[in-house]
Amino acid sequence: MSDSPFRDRLAYLRRKLDETDLDGVVISQPENRFYLSGFSGSSGLLLITKNRAAIFVDGRYWEQVGQESPDLELIRQTRTEPYADQLAKVLPGLGRTLGFEAAHITVAQQEDWLQKVPGVEWQPTRQFVETLREVKDESEIQRIRTAARITDGAVRSLASLLEPGMMEDTLSWRLERWMRENGAEEMAFGVSVSSGLNTSKPHAHGGKCPLANNEPVWIDLGAKKDHYCSDMTRAFWFGDAVTERYRAVWELVRQAQEESIAAIRPGVAAAEVDRIARSRIEEAGYGYAFSHALGHGVGLEIHESPSISPLSQSVLTAGMVITIEPGIYLPGWGGVRIEDLLLIREDGVELLSHAEKRLAWE
Ligand code: ZN
Ligand code: ZN
Repeated sequence: MSDSPFRDRLAYLRRKLDETDLDGVVISQPENRFYLSGFSGSSGLLLITKNRAAIFVDGRYWEQVGQESPDLELIRQTRTEPYADQLAKVLPGLGRTLGFEAAHITVAQQEDWLQKVPGVEWQPTRQFVETLREVKDESEIQRIRTAARITDGAVRSLASLLEPGMMEDTLSWRLERWMRENGAEEMAFGVSVSSGLNTSKPHAHGGKCPLANNEPVWIDLGAKKDHYCSDMTRAFWFGDAVTERYRAVWELVRQAQEESIAAIRPGVAAAEVDRIARSRIEEAGYGYAFSHALGHGVGLEIHESPSISPLSQSVLTAGMVITIEPGIYLPGWGGVRIEDLLLIREDGVELLSHAEKRLAWE
């Protein structure tokens, strides 16, 4: 990758445009906009055609966009003219057939554009930029690696952060504070701490429930560094009297994770990796209790393409960064999920999560 990844990415996107009958595409999804332009503001439209690359932003961002995206043509949105009227002046000049991001533009915005931007035929696109983002370059991998190291550090500090009787949300805050004080610019998502019966809800968020002695706990956390995310889950028994059932379920989840990771290499279907973990859990009679996908891509977004699930059409490729996170959730008993972040390389897998998996903490 050259010093200007954005130029390379634009060139790549234009080659993709050549394969369609679109004259250009309007990018509004924030991570896609950043990926192609380097502009990190929270709103704006990026307009890309075969020979123009322009960005449409309001007065809050005029200075910033000049610094972050000096090569882009800047179209200033002003306060004195309605937004759609300004678009109507600019967009027809960019092409007759323009794509827009179907997963991001609202019905209201689309109606506005259809009405107020005559002369443009709008075509919805899906996954137009997301598939480019699946394979990471070296600079992206470095950032994800750094974010993963911060997550590792927080988990390794658990001994000093955990206290019997503390609330779930107190532990969430301590983990978040540890990550912020050790280089995270923000959280990749709200730190999730779940204990006791709450652990059977895969997306439970830490609340006012105390971490009682001898109960299951899991923590799911990720840092953001230079815009890139990390993601990790560790499940453990909090106390010194691990039950046999917890030990068995925890060990089964760990094995399902290990076996599915061992199958990962370029050219393998994502659905096949999911099947390996899922059939391991099904054979033990817990298939009904593994209620989510095995994993997902991680990058600028915490959940991005490819999906590692039974329905996924993706084929794993070197440079993809994904999670592998099998789980078993039993209402009225509790749950276990173990999640690692990893990089797919030409010769297999490099784990990016290093914090140990401990059955129990006291
Ligand atoms: Zn995840
Ligand atoms: Zn996670």
